[in-house]
Amino acid sequence: MAEAFVTLNSEIQAKFPSISFINSNKGKTLLVADDYTFKLNKTTTRTKYWISTVNGCAAKVHTDLNNGLMKTVGYHSHLRAKEKREVREAREKMIYLKIHFLTLNIPA
Ligand SMILES: [Zn+2]
Repeated sequence: MAEAFVTLNSEIQAKFPSISFINSNKGKTLLVADDYTFKLNKTTTRTKYWISTVNGCAAKVHTDLNNGLMKTVGYHSHLRAKEKREVREAREKMIYLKIHFLTLNIPA
């Protein structure tokens, strides 16, 4: 079990292309990695600890004080923002097709 977790974690690390930073509408800095967002949880003398912005999600990112990626910990319990958008768009397309199909099949 522990081995499987390590493998998964290193796969996620390998997939992280880069990290970037955005300002939230509350004026806080958010870390963005692979379309997931993280908020700063705590800072020590050497490390900044970022946690997923989704409550209850176990994914974390450690950066150095210059915001350089050190490591990622755990994995997300939810879809990334981009996937959510794609799922929503697919659903809207389905609804459109359904309405269109039903309209075409209304008897004259
Ligand atoms: Zn998350």
